Amino acid sequence: MLLVGAHPEQDRHDPGSGHPERPGRLVAAAAGIADALDADAGDAGLGGTDLCLPLRLASRSELAAVHDIGYLDAVADLCARGGGHLDADTVASPGSWETARATAGAGLGAVEALTAGQGDAAFVLGRPPGHHATRAAAMGFCLLNNVAITAAALVSRGERVAIIDWDVHHGNGTQDIFWEDPRVLFVSIHQWPLYPGTGRADERGGGAGLGTTVNVPLPAGATGDVYLAAWDEVIAPSVARFGATWVLVSAGFDAHRDDPLASMLLTAGDYADLTGRVMALTDEAGRTILFLEGGYDLGGLRASVAACASRLAGGSYRPEPASSGGPGMAHVAGYRRRFLEEIPHS
Ligand SMILES: [Zn+2]
Repeated sequence: MLLVGAHPEQDRHDPGSGHPERPGRLVAAAAGIADALDADAGDAGLGGTDLCLPLRLASRSELAAVHDIGYLDAVADLCARGGGHLDADTVASPGSWETARATAGAGLGAVEALTAGQGDAAFVLGRPPGHHATRAAAMGFCLLNNVAITAAALVSRGERVAIIDWDVHHGNGTQDIFWEDPRVLFVSIHQWPLYPGTGRADERGGGAGLGTTVNVPLPAGATGDVYLAAWDEVIAPSVARFGATWVLVSAGFDAHRDDPLASMLLTAGDYADLTGRVMALTDEAGRTILFLEGGYDLGGLRASVAACASRLAGGSYRPEPASSGGPGMAHVAGYRRRFLEEIPHS
């Protein structure tokens, strides 16, 4: 059973007119879940079996496992005063603090439900996204680092967590937070060069975490076959060598071919294939959570969420066929030679 954490009716994070990270994204994502439900009705997939996770706010102490208290208080105060800019393109509105806490809390609620045996995987669809947020700064539309907050909760109870970030932008915030932490493997596959400018292949972590950061930068125009080659040659062997007990995915959908902020050529069918690869990473059911990050074309977002949700639930809904033929295969071959021997064993 797939657990879904989505409460678009409670979404009060509004960065303002014309901002690409807009409330309509969550409506489109929720529509994607409904599309998958309809398509899989009577099939082995989602039909009638998904469970909505209850709304749950992350507590101050849960947030403080990742973020500085001074930063948390500053964001809460800004929202209480009516909102405003946190950086050039990151804006808080009066409702942003509560909405961000609910999005962070959805990942924690998903861990609780999965641990209790209530589902096989979870898909957290919330706003704002999180992977650019660092310990002490909002950045790139992100206020709280949702995937990092869930990873921190898991490692505090002894789990080894792999975070795979397939958002088209590098997850600089998540990388920073776990840079020296050997209990979290951070793997990012992204377009490069592109915002935020980090994510080169030679960024590998530091201190005790040396080797537990893996960056797979790819050229603009990469297609699904290149992503799958990167997955099979670099990402899956890295996760296996690390010995992850949980897999969290920063699932942005802005590598979709219709996205206005980037230039990759993925389709909904490619995201279904990547989701199938995610499910093969863990031996045990109930140890996989996908988190919505970016994705700014509403049609591409809806189709991609639908394809992922169907695949997570064992269905086969693919509103768009897979893509192939783009550049990047030579990059993947180079990364394979360089990376694997540097990942610490579990
Ligand atoms: Zn992005």
